Amino acid sequence: MDLNTVVSYRFATSRADLILAPGEKVLGGGTGLFAEPRPDVTGIVDLSTMGWPDLEVSEAGLRIAATCTIATLVAFAEGRGPLAVPGGWAAASVFPVAANALLASFKIWNTATVGGNVCQSYCAASMVSLAAALDGQAVIWTPDGGERRQSVASLMTGDGTNSLGAAEVLRAIDLPAVALRSRVLMRKIALAELGRSGAVVTGRVDADATAVFTVTASTLTPTVLRYAPLPDAPTLAAAVGAARGYYTDPLGPADWRRAVSIVLAEELRAELAAGA
Ligand SMILES: Cc1cc2nc3c(=O)[nH]c(=O)nc-3n(C[C@H](O)[C@H](O)[C@H](O)COP(=O)(O)OP(=O)(O)OC[C@H]3O[C@@H](n4cnc5c(N)ncnc54)[C@H](O)[C@@H]3O)c2cc1C
Repeated sequence: MDLNTVVSYRFATSRADLILAPGEKVLGGGTGLFAEPRPDVTGIVDLSTMGWPDLEVSEAGLRIAATCTIATLVAFAEGRGPLAVPGGWAAASVFPVAANALLASFKIWNTATVGGNVCQSYCAASMVSLAAALDGQAVIWTPDGGERRQSVASLMTGDGTNSLGAAEVLRAIDLPAVALRSRVLMRKIALAELGRSGAVVTGRVDADATAVFTVTASTLTPTVLRYAPLPDAPTLAAAVGAARGYYTDPLGPADWRRAVSIVLAEELRAELAAGA
């Protein structure tokens, strides 16, 4: 939609360009920003010209630029991009699953950015689900020229809110190699078959047998549960059931979200246990 309060549009090419004037907002792909009235926005600062490499592979893991599109991330995971997935990074197989957890994903994949999805911060933000599942760290540029890091899971404060400062910019998401080498599974459920996620649950087992389960979309903020080794069924069900923030909206009542999260977590636990 037209944001008819916008009177300026500039392309950022340097860090100095990211000093925002009152009313300015940074733009990733615009699929969220232009989707609803934003009378508070008077200027747009486009990040697509910052020149950040979409994906950087290193010994430490994978850096996903905030400006990397979801389509590019999927192409990497499926071996269709310029970079090869390093041998042993089994968790890359879950990237397309996360991308498909977005409602109407085929319409927005080529434009929507990973950073935009995280910063839009809807409960149903599946790039948040992905990052939470793999201990993703947000690399955040602060307005004083510094940088801070925070787990993506802890950055979320509610449906559409996060703890980013007004003038802070998400530079990248870092996924650690240890998590990328893990076995990880993701399940989504929605009231309508292709609808916006009602619950997205992940389960992961690392090489050292540490197990991590996350509950997203059904709770207002991500829930991350860690065990060593895999928990038994009653332990996991109790922890998922006790997670905070199950909520009711037109996409599902809180008691349904809680119940399906428990079921999905147990499916993942059983599958991971069988694989082990
Ligand atoms: C058909 C359709 C279906 C959708 N389905 C879903 C869905 O299932 N789940 C879901 O979560 N969303 C969904 N969305 C909303 C939105 O498209 C996605 O969240 C998308 O990933 C946003 O990415 P973007 O790059 O377009 O963000 P933008 O629209 O560019 O930005 C979104 C917000 O994040 C801020 N922002 C962007 N990049 C940064 C950055 N690097 N640092 C700081 N702030 C930043 C912007 O200022 C803005 O406030 C849908 C939208 C449409 C149109």
